[in-house]
Amino acid sequence: MRIVDGIVTQVEAGLTARPGESVHDGGGRWAVPGLWDAHVHMGQWAAATTRFDLAEATSVAHACGIVARQVATMSRDRPGTICGFGHRTATWPEQPTVASLDEVTRDVPVVLISGDCHSGWLNSVALSLLGLAPREDVVVEQEWFDVFPLLEERLPGLAERAVAGYRQASAEAVAKGITGVVDLEFARGVDLWPARFSSDRVDALRVRVGTYADGLDDVIAAGLRTGDEIGESGGLLTMGPLKIISDGSLNTRTAYCCEPYADGDELPHPAGVQNVDFHDLRLLLGRAAAHGLDVALHAIGDAAVRDALDAFEVTRARGTIEHAQLMCWDDMPRMGRLGITASVQPAHLWDDRDVARRCWPDRMDRCFPFRSLAANGVPLALGSDAPVSPLDPWLAMAAAVHRSADAREPWMPHQALTVAEALGASTDGQGTIGRGSRGDLVLLDADPYAVPDDSAEAAAALREIHVAATFVAGRLVHG
Ligand SMILES: [Zn+2]
Repeated sequence: MRIVDGIVTQVEAGLTARPGESVHDGGGRWAVPGLWDAHVHMGQWAAATTRFDLAEATSVAHACGIVARQVATMSRDRPGTICGFGHRTATWPEQPTVASLDEVTRDVPVVLISGDCHSGWLNSVALSLLGLAPREDVVVEQEWFDVFPLLEERLPGLAERAVAGYRQASAEAVAKGITGVVDLEFARGVDLWPARFSSDRVDALRVRVGTYADGLDDVIAAGLRTGDEIGESGGLLTMGPLKIISDGSLNTRTAYCCEPYADGDELPHPAGVQNVDFHDLRLLLGRAAAHGLDVALHAIGDAAVRDALDAFEVTRARGTIEHAQLMCWDDMPRMGRLGITASVQPAHLWDDRDVARRCWPDRMDRCFPFRSLAANGVPLALGSDAPVSPLDPWLAMAAAVHRSADAREPWMPHQALTVAEALGASTDGQGTIGRGSRGDLVLLDADPYAVPDDSAEAAAALREIHVAATFVAGRLVHG
């Protein structure tokens, strides 16, 4: 295989090196196109290396006990911020309060980010440092998304850890065969990434940088269209989509649904929450389309997906629906016809299986409907939504192939993908390597297709595949 200026120019037997070319011996390994994660929050994922894990917490008291141990280990002379991540409160007997956290945290600022990233449980010190009014409950949805970019700036100790976190996160990603990510971080990535690339040398991966609506005017004023290079990056850093969050999440029971949740009569919004009404959605998509920007539209509930497709259809915008965890049957062929990509995070189905059984027992056959989407011609793009699940393409493929994370039978196994489909949906549409394809390659020690037929064994084999080397635009970045 010959790669010139970042592009594959030849794939054939018996190539010999020309003067000035560097040669890498693949040693008879398997080459696959560079892998992508279509939905990452790079800042949070990088910061996750510095957060403690709350995923195991089963109650307010349990979580507070874990936090109290963290507080006890902090040094008095070098105070920082305590930052935890991963709790999921939908099945807890009682819901978190600021007072319960204050009791165990003294004057140390504490921020606990929920596993689905849609809420923050903060103590009074952190609330005040962030300029938020005193309250009894956690900070949720838009208020949380607004305050999130301020954490590093206003809470002691967090900014210092950030650069090291980015370097480590991208090194770990290329070691798994990742050659590109779509970064949908809440902070202004378009402003922040060029310096990260040039000064901080966080430049191993391709990064497609999204913007939220609050940055849209600036992006349009700068004349940036999706695919345009940002800064000086040799083409690796490019403008991504406009990201819109149109509903909530399943775990917080705010995903916007056609039918009320099974426990809807206990909820303030029995069928979930529409964050952006249809009129505004249409305006945003229309602006994006008019200025050459793709749209990455977060829609988890079936009503949110339906509205999203309506908005794509009337505005002729292009892009993705992010998550699409619950869909109406008749929206699937429509999505295929419109050519909208389903950007899905298979590992979420492992996490959401039990919550869905509790909240959506009457519609589980339409949850994470990968097989039906593929059958209706909808392009699939796999991702992690890291830090919601780990930035690990093999984990995503394993979950798409085998819909169980434990000894139980797969959940709705007829919606599973084949290994070939899951791998194909992880290559940013490249599919294979040939003349003219990107010089983004991953060398594997084993043939990824030679996995057992049994889905559990296939998933286990995928998770054990060893990445020997990763190339981005012809440059060896791992191995
Ligand atoms: Zn996300």
